[in-house]
Amino acid sequence: MPLFPTPLPELFVERLQTILPRERLHDCLQSFSAIRPTSFRINTLKTTEAALVTALQSDGFLLSRIDWRPGAYSVPPDQRRALTESNAVDEGLIYIQDLSSMLAPMVLDPKPGERVLDLAAAPGGKTLQIAAMMNNRGELAAVESVKGRYFRLKANLERGGATMVRSYLKDGRAVGAKVPERFDRVLVDAPCSSEARFSTRDPRSWSHWSLKKVQESARKQQRLLDSAIRSLKPGGSLLYCTCSFSPEENEQVVDSQLRRYGDGLAVIPIELPLRNLQPGLLQWGKRVYSNQLRCAVRVLPTEEMRGFFLCRLVRCP
Ligand code: SAM
Repeated sequence: MPLFPTPLPELFVERLQTILPRERLHDCLQSFSAIRPTSFRINTLKTTEAALVTALQSDGFLLSRIDWRPGAYSVPPDQRRALTESNAVDEGLIYIQDLSSMLAPMVLDPKPGERVLDLAAAPGGKTLQIAAMMNNRGELAAVESVKGRYFRLKANLERGGATMVRSYLKDGRAVGAKVPERFDRVLVDAPCSSEARFSTRDPRSWSHWSLKKVQESARKQQRLLDSAIRSLKPGGSLLYCTCSFSPEENEQVVDSQLRRYGDGLAVIPIELPLRNLQPGLLQWGKRVYSNQLRCAVRVLPTEEMRGFFLCRLVRCP
């Protein structure tokens, strides 16, 4: 009899038992069955928080404010469909987004007037959030390599009024060589095995998962991260993130680049107003990672948000 009865792949659960803190394991595994509130972000490029909150409340939505993120709210699960079909979504006044996804632009911390790159951008939730944080001022390049997803990104950016964004249908792995040392900040929201999106209610969410897929993702992530580092100005900073729990896709990807760049690259600590956090791992199996990885952050999954990995890096001048 397994310790935690669950339909999720046995190997995946076995690995989580080593990755996650022992005292949080049970709650984390339970969270794969959660029916979460639907969170969203108010798009300040098109509306104000006060106007939008009034409009949604008068349409009958039961809003809960997210106290750690201005402009972020949620509605109960049974209002998800109505919210998805609302005018507010249709007109780009709000963007439905998981709470842990909102953390990435917060940590990247872009400023108006800067040059920013989003290297794996579709469908564009984080690009839009970055454009709003920059008040549509400066330069924001969004790269996506999958055609169908690229057009979805374009549509979302247009709907959201992100006029500052230039989007490119390109392979992000080639960007660093094409435009070296160009950007002040780079976001790498890497394509991954999406383990944090597994749901016990949807077998399709994990049907493609295997260790081989994890390793394939890790190889692509290595090259994307290398490209991102090359595209950074000296002194510029980068956020690498995934929605995977696998150390091969997280600490190991960053560790390889720390070894490659030596003193030219460093991890910067991240401060987040959350309690469901775990520092980056310093060891996995026989591999020992750089001590700097203790400054990376693993967001543990809860009834409110999915798991996430975040690591902030600076290219040392
Ligand atoms: N940042 C997006 C958001 O918040 O809406 C989600 C990004 S998703 C995790 C990763 C994206 O990277 C996918 O859209 C995928 O198609 C794209 N991708 C995969 N390989 C890529 C590559 N070589 N270059 C650029 N984008 C790539």
